[in-house]
Amino acid sequence: MLGGSAMRHNLFRTVVVATAAVWILALIGCARNRVTVVDDAALRATDGDPANWITYGHSYSEQRFSQLRQIDEQSITRLGLAWSFDLGTLRGLEATPLVQDGVLYTSSAWSLVYAVDARTGRLLWQYDPHVPKDHSKFVCCDVVNRGVALYRGRVYVGTLDGRLIALDAKTGKVVWEAQTTPKDGPYAITGAPRIAKGRVFIGNAGAEYAVRGYVSAYDADTGNLVWRTYTVPGDPSKPFESEAMRRAAATWSGEWWKAGGGGTAWDAIVYDPDLDFVFFGTGNGSPWYDRLRGKGDDLYVASIVALRADTGEQVWAYQTTPGDNWDYDATQPLMLATLTIDGQQRRVLMQANKNGFFYELDPATGKLISARPYAEINWAKGIDSNGRPIENAAVRELKDATIVKPSSAGAHNWHPLSFNPVTGLVYMATLDATSIQAVSAGWKINLHDQTTGLDRGYVGPVRKQWLALKPSGRLVAWDAAAQREAWHVDLPDPGSGGTLSTAGNLVFQGRADGKLSAYQATDGKLLWEFDTGIGIMAPPMTYEVDGKQYIAVLAGWGGPEVLGNRATGKGKVAPGKLLSFSLGGTATLPPYERVVQPVPAPTFQLAASKSDIEKGRVLYATFCARCHGAEVASGGSVFDLRYAPEETHKKFEQIVLGGTAREFGMPSFSEDLTSAQVRLIQGYVLDRAREAARTEVSSR
Ligand code: CA
Repeated sequence: MLGGSAMRHNLFRTVVVATAAVWILALIGCARNRVTVVDDAALRATDGDPANWITYGHSYSEQRFSQLRQIDEQSITRLGLAWSFDLGTLRGLEATPLVQDGVLYTSSAWSLVYAVDARTGRLLWQYDPHVPKDHSKFVCCDVVNRGVALYRGRVYVGTLDGRLIALDAKTGKVVWEAQTTPKDGPYAITGAPRIAKGRVFIGNAGAEYAVRGYVSAYDADTGNLVWRTYTVPGDPSKPFESEAMRRAAATWSGEWWKAGGGGTAWDAIVYDPDLDFVFFGTGNGSPWYDRLRGKGDDLYVASIVALRADTGEQVWAYQTTPGDNWDYDATQPLMLATLTIDGQQRRVLMQANKNGFFYELDPATGKLISARPYAEINWAKGIDSNGRPIENAAVRELKDATIVKPSSAGAHNWHPLSFNPVTGLVYMATLDATSIQAVSAGWKINLHDQTTGLDRGYVGPVRKQWLALKPSGRLVAWDAAAQREAWHVDLPDPGSGGTLSTAGNLVFQGRADGKLSAYQATDGKLLWEFDTGIGIMAPPMTYEVDGKQYIAVLAGWGGPEVLGNRATGKGKVAPGKLLSFSLGGTATLPPYERVVQPVPAPTFQLAASKSDIEKGRVLYATFCARCHGAEVASGGSVFDLRYAPEETHKKFEQIVLGGTAREFGMPSFSEDLTSAQVRLIQGYVLDRAREAARTEVSSR
């Protein structure tokens, strides 16, 4: 036994030795801070280089776990804002910033790219791909971008109008540009590219439109297409591109290819260097409803798919929602991990699917290891031994308008999740919400706009029941090996953001109300909070420069303005910012108060009968609500039409059909609407404005 003083002495020595060790480690850390080039070796070794964050999910396994621990459960009380950078947009921000050798790269709304000094936030360069603003028509869920990729001195970004662009990382100058989708077609890129072996892997979005999904690989040097793999079969009168497409065609019926089939790969793409596979998830079928597409499973919509990285040849596919009928894309983040399951070490590919099941697959074969619901669902009771869902027949049938859980926003969506290998927990945002699925009676393919088959104007008896069901949101810690919840935190608003895990026993997450929070990873105890005043959807990330650890996140609320046919959450819309935090940070944010003026009584006169206004309501719900908000009340990202001045009303048709407000992001609907229909919409908008003005006056 040591006496008190001897023990103290020893403790002192230990501290000295430990401090020296920290210094040595810090020096190694500084040396490590110089990746100099992001190549395949660097991308495979990211776990040994925590100072940098050089690929979307931090590593090829996409666990979003950082070994940095300067900010930990003790020191976190000293965490403060180090700097902020104004991104000059009111639209949604979803990107994960990347950091290499003290330079931070991020994308923003409209696919803009920024490079800033990661220590100070000083702008180094910015790049605007000049996306035609009316391409906003071809996105379901805001003009977002989830991030860039780095490789051999270049920065790669996919743009909203479907281009893949390589920029010089030092200057932001364009090196090459490739159009990856039919030009001006209803496709978009919102996801981040991934790179391996000199190839850039990129998918696209658009399955709410008449499109056919695919994933492509481009040569990182030249921008030449290396391979393209479709997710659903095309016109069977033409040769199939592969055996996989021939097999898939047997699971479709009718003339499915005319509406494209959907199955777009709009988010997750993961490269596995061990197997040399590329994994991705596919979106919903187009149109949404099974009965509009015809009988069958409709391979490979709503599936997790593995391809050979060199050729794009399909190795395996696992369909999470056969014959998808509820917009249950399987595009959510995919993650590779090694778990101890029943005493055995197993490599797994994990996904918290929109449909409410947490899937664990064997990455080599695609065989289901297990699937458990992580949220309340009503469309299925479980998964059978063949890996097929045991469905609720009434929810499959959608005979009348049907309340479906999870909602079409998913129990979990694109929001990146993180896995802490020490706690064995996956941290994710979950959404407890329902959709009202009502199939349009006279659905016809629309090649120029969304063509889901959802009756967005539905107001039948089920709606009242549905409106009483209030959505809610949680941060859930999921025990991956046991497939059960370890803990959860109830959030004040249903909406929240992606997560980051660190070796400091911390989980970081942003929220709709603008709070950035840190929780103890083991038990969910709230340790720190910072009010940014800006709704956060994007995932935080972390990096180190000059021996200092930072936590960075994009704050900017946006996304779809409606969920089903009602308003989404109450996320705080404010000018978007890139924020970076460090220990002892003392920077502040200028206070921002969104001033909501009372709606003025409109002066513009337009004769509209009750039945005209009702027709206008249905048209508004179908074509306008997704950006301008349910019942003409906008969340703030996009112009609230109730405030439209007389001048705007005089030019209403020129704007809606003539496209005269294109440069502000308002597309032309000349291929979808007639002049008479535009007047009906205008009548409804004016009615809503009058109503708002009246109720506000009476409540004063
Ligand atoms: Ca979808």
